[in-house]
Amino acid sequence: MTTGEPQRFAGPSDLHLHSNHSDGTESPGRVVRQAHAHGIRTLALTDHDRTTGWAEAGAVAAELGMTFLPGMELSAKHEWRSVHVLGYLFDPEDADLRAETERIRDDRIGRAERMVRNISRDYDLSWEDVLAHTTGDATVGRPHIADALVTRGIVRDRTEAFDGILHPREGYYEPHYAPDPLTAVRLITDAGGVAIIAHPVTAGRDRMLPPEVIERLIAAGLAGFEIDHRENTEDGKRILRRIAADHDLIVTGSSDYHGTGKPNRPGENTTADDMVARIIERATGTPPQFG
Ligand code: AMP
Ligand code: FE
Ligand code: FE
Ligand code: ZN
Repeated sequence: MTTGEPQRFAGPSDLHLHSNHSDGTESPGRVVRQAHAHGIRTLALTDHDRTTGWAEAGAVAAELGMTFLPGMELSAKHEWRSVHVLGYLFDPEDADLRAETERIRDDRIGRAERMVRNISRDYDLSWEDVLAHTTGDATVGRPHIADALVTRGIVRDRTEAFDGILHPREGYYEPHYAPDPLTAVRLITDAGGVAIIAHPVTAGRDRMLPPEVIERLIAAGLAGFEIDHRENTEDGKRILRRIAADHDLIVTGSSDYHGTGKPNRPGENTTADDMVARIIERATGTPPQFG
């Protein structure tokens, strides 16, 4: 988009939703329909470490006259802390990014198997139970183990599983391979994409990255922060808004919809039109699909 050209998308915009290509419970097309039913007119599909949902989501978005931004939520970690980096409008064929997502996805399988082995020492749970809850080649995560625990009648829902058995304090947790956030930001940026840290200021274990790390990420091309997200703390949002203003960064708001896997509803947080426009202007990897 060049300056002066009218924006060709319409809000409200929700830039963070998951399908069953990762740990959402619905197909990409269904996710798009749900977003539309909640009033969203521009959306991004951001499955963990995977881009295979783009085609179906894009087709349904076109049918509904919505604007579609291809995206992904790349797993990273700083020391022990899990960091999620949203990438938008990058080239899905970029060799380095593809190699990294394949490495993460492969390791996630072995890690989930190790967690199931740990859990099976105390509970009646098998790897087959978990596979029964993953669709095709979905990026496997703790949410799929949670679903298997629900089916086994061990917990009521994903929330109870995450608060209990899947929580690192319970001793069944295993880490998986993930690049450091600097590598994640560089991979997305070098693939022509726009890198935004997802839910950067959640409470507890995954609290905010140290300011000096954030500064390094910005220097490496980090475009902004997802600020309006239900898991960000109010104090954290204030700090991030200040950093974003100081560095003229993009700020977004999103639902992080996972179908029935989380209470989050499409459109519960949205991204301002001028911020969506900045993401589109900055990207060089893949154009958005305008509605
Ligand atoms: P993993 O990456 O496999 O360690 O699992 C983390 C994923 O679990 C995140 O992407 C979240 O979407 C999901 N998750 C985290 N906490 C919860 C929760 N309380 N209820 C449902 N899903 C959750
Ligand atoms: Fe998730
Ligand atoms: Fe996330
Ligand atoms: Zn997410």
